[in-house]
Amino acid sequence: MTATILDGRALAQELKAEAHTQIATLAETLGRAPSLVVVQVGNDPASSRYVRTIGKICNSVGATFHLELLPVDATQDDLLSIIRTLNSEQAVDGILVQMPLPGHLDTTGAILAIDYQKDIDGVHPVNAGLLAQGRPGIVPNTPAGGMELLRRNGIVLRGKRAAVVGRSAIVGRPMAQLLLQADATVTICHSRTPDLGAVLRECDVVCVAVGKPGLITGAMIRPGAIVVDFGTNVRADGSLAGDVDFASAVEVAGAITPVPGGTGPVTNTMLLHNLIEAARSRATR
Ligand code: NDP
Repeated sequence: MTATILDGRALAQELKAEAHTQIATLAETLGRAPSLVVVQVGNDPASSRYVRTIGKICNSVGATFHLELLPVDATQDDLLSIIRTLNSEQAVDGILVQMPLPGHLDTTGAILAIDYQKDIDGVHPVNAGLLAQGRPGIVPNTPAGGMELLRRNGIVLRGKRAAVVGRSAIVGRPMAQLLLQADATVTICHSRTPDLGAVLRECDVVCVAVGKPGLITGAMIRPGAIVVDFGTNVRADGSLAGDVDFASAVEVAGAITPVPGGTGPVTNTMLLHNLIEAARSRATR
């Protein structure tokens, strides 16, 4: 069997076009475009690249984008002060604090300082708590994008056995919550899970967010299973590899996300979805 490829680039284009229309409508209601502010401390090249990508995506769909760039030696007070100012500004709908922060800064403190209604990364504990309770809130972009890939490809989750490999707050845990909300029966695996292959071979859906290239091979996947690979690992030559060994998995799975071109492009466009929802819900309060 050769798996169907779940094309993230095509879906990202579709989502961007939808966001463009929604933003134009919302701008009429608000009297301004929805606006995102990214707070970046220092000039880490990977962070700067990501922030530039976000800026371009916002600009391409008519959202307002602004970067607050703090020097690498900014203090926690400097960071909290800018976050508090952004919280209080009516015309700011979304705040994203670019991670990782330099080591001398307190990441948890920075996340807690963000108004959870403007937390478009969905990382604030209030949003994580709402998700854990199955209530509406802001969902982290990466797992939200994974679910969108499944949904738009007509993959039914109700009653299915699903496994998530990885339990980070930003990908694994929220993905497990979203699968649960979609009525899947969910197992969460991590570095202490014995015989990962035995667990995964029982599952109809396997989602992987570990950060270890090629960890999951075709032999660990049930024939016909759906495989969502969040892994984004940079090889020595600069190319990207997933956590799933694509060559062996594609021969066994029913459908699979490639890396690159799978979950990655969708993640960035889900940020727009969160920005639109944040702006809408603040406007209707
Ligand atoms: P973390 O390092 O925060 O979490 C990794 C998880 O993998 C941990 O829960 C860890 O278990 C688990 N793990 C480690 N080794 C094994 C193993 N041998 N078997 C089973 N589980 C294992 O990573 P993130 O969640 O932040 O990122 C995961 C991957 O997703 C990375 O490649 C990252 O680049 C990518 N990513 C992709 C995004 C996208 O848009 N596609 C966005 C964000 C991240 P334990 O908890 O026990 O330590």
